[in-house]
Amino acid sequence: MNSSGYPPWVVLHIPHDSTFIPDQVRPQFVLSDHDLALELKRMTDHFTHALFAEPSGEATVIRAPVSRLVVDVERFAADDREPMAARGMGAVYEVTSHLTPLRRRLSAEERAELMGAWYHPHHEQLEAAVADTLERHGRCLVLDGHSFPGTALPYENADPTARRPDICIGTDSFHSPKALEQAFVDAFTRSGWSVAVNEPFAGALVPASRHHRDFRVMAVMVEVSRDLYLDRESFEPKPDFAQIAAEVRHRCVEALKAFQS
Ligand SMILES: [Zn+2]
Repeated sequence: MNSSGYPPWVVLHIPHDSTFIPDQVRPQFVLSDHDLALELKRMTDHFTHALFAEPSGEATVIRAPVSRLVVDVERFAADDREPMAARGMGAVYEVTSHLTPLRRRLSAEERAELMGAWYHPHHEQLEAAVADTLERHGRCLVLDGHSFPGTALPYENADPTARRPDICIGTDSFHSPKALEQAFVDAFTRSGWSVAVNEPFAGALVPASRHHRDFRVMAVMVEVSRDLYLDRESFEPKPDFAQIAAEVRHRCVEALKAFQS
């Protein structure tokens, strides 16, 4: 394995870094331009493609093409499988991060149209990348790259005064071997960053057809606190962004190397 990049059995999944809202979707939102821009600032995992995937080494990168406010590809497609749907934040959000109305009520056809345009094609790409990686390498690791605000947003139902870690490693009971989890915790701890497992966010994404069925598919989520790399006021990258990004990638690659050996 090339120590400077991701190995070819990794699929990098970047679900939340887009701020793109297609023109035809904009009228669904009940927010003013100002408030929509603010909501994008709060909810986007800013620059996570740059943070995790530039350069991506030999890994395949699957990146959502639209903002999570359009559809959230990280949620289950069916609301009855998605716990966040009870809060109005299934794959198609009804409310903002502050639990106020985000979009007008959609018909079933309109929801299906959104899912057909943006959600299902994304998951087809992810499924294909995983299938291809399994065929070529006999295994696959989906590395799900995110970031989170340093202070909890109201929708999270978490204590906004609680101290949050620098790095959160999300795992799945079936798809995340204990040694993989430990390798990621150890690697990021060596950076001097505080690391928590499944706190404040839990889980790791696996394509639906493999979910809790195919042990050759492994998964880990890495969530980076935005306070490490993003200016809280401007939402622009901090001056040392390139260095932080290099460190994040280096620790991910180091963890994979330790896990593999
Ligand atoms: Zn995210």
